[in-house]
Amino acid sequence: MAARATVVYHPDLLSLDFGEGHPLRSDRYSDFLSLFSKLGLDADPRFEKAGCQAASHDDLLLAHSPEYVLEVGKVALRRGSLSIDTPISPEIVQGSMLAVGGALEAGRRVASCESRHVACFGGFHHAGPDYGGGFCVFNDVAILARALVRRHGKRRVMVIDTDAHAGDGTEDVLAQDPSVLVVSMHQDPTTIFPGKCFAQDIGLGEGRGFTANIPLPLMSELDEYQRCFQEIVLPLAREFGPEVVIRNGGSDPHYADELTQLGLSVADFKWLGMMVREAAQGAPLVDMYGSGYNPRVLPSCWMALLSGTSGMNLHVPRMDEGRRPEIAVTPGLATQRDFEILGTIAEVKKNLKPYWKCFQ
Ligand SMILES: [Zn+2]
Repeated sequence: MAARATVVYHPDLLSLDFGEGHPLRSDRYSDFLSLFSKLGLDADPRFEKAGCQAASHDDLLLAHSPEYVLEVGKVALRRGSLSIDTPISPEIVQGSMLAVGGALEAGRRVASCESRHVACFGGFHHAGPDYGGGFCVFNDVAILARALVRRHGKRRVMVIDTDAHAGDGTEDVLAQDPSVLVVSMHQDPTTIFPGKCFAQDIGLGEGRGFTANIPLPLMSELDEYQRCFQEIVLPLAREFGPEVVIRNGGSDPHYADELTQLGLSVADFKWLGMMVREAAQGAPLVDMYGSGYNPRVLPSCWMALLSGTSGMNLHVPRMDEGRRPEIAVTPGLATQRDFEILGTIAEVKKNLKPYWKCFQ
């Protein structure tokens, strides 16, 4: 039986570690793979594992300016920082190039029909054409989308960014490109990093209409996500008809995440994955795992996502997720979230209406 899903991984990815006390440690990858092994998936014929090699300088230029790549090299040598939260070193740059290499290997596999579903590790969506930051050095999501278009001849690639933070770097790289539809659903940027990517930001020039930002109210739960998928993401996906879907984002929309304020439970991540699978409509899927700032829930959330995106209904062990923060509401009245999400959905549709029949 041919494997139904491939997991691309290289052990040197562990060098992509920002160090003691930083929220992004590389043990997330090994923690997830330990759970993967513990569940017997290493020996499961539905899965295969594959290695990868580091990206080349030319690969990086698919999304970044030569000046930025040069600057990264210089800053790494003196162990400086790209931003206040993103210190870099030659090891971190090597790890970042390996993450890009993993994404490109995933892209090569889906483009050559070797695999229909590839999970890889990365999703560094805050790195833009000439800037890094937000724990991101090189934007593996945007580089992969560009490679699928420019090297593999794809005409319609869809990025579905499910990370709690907006995919600002990805959007800046791809803003003018109508062959890549970028949809990002994220915590209201007025309340969190990067403070960009609002409903009115819909792409530029020829790419206008091919970026959709869905800012989610604080503590949004499954209900809000469901409305967004039903009313925006799925209609867009049906009309666009992607040849490949790239999903990125990890566990940071979980309610116990330490850096964000969204409201998903572990079980909800499976539903999120299933919706992304539905949006793909049978097209191959590259599934990029990276974020999450509560190591206790991270492996289970990633596994629940994989269960949904792969359609394999994997067993996700029950765990203590902690208590969901309570939000006070007046009985009988709609919550603030209800008002906000309805307003957001209406605004996104209104802005995209000139470009999409599904919103007319
Ligand atoms: Zn994030």
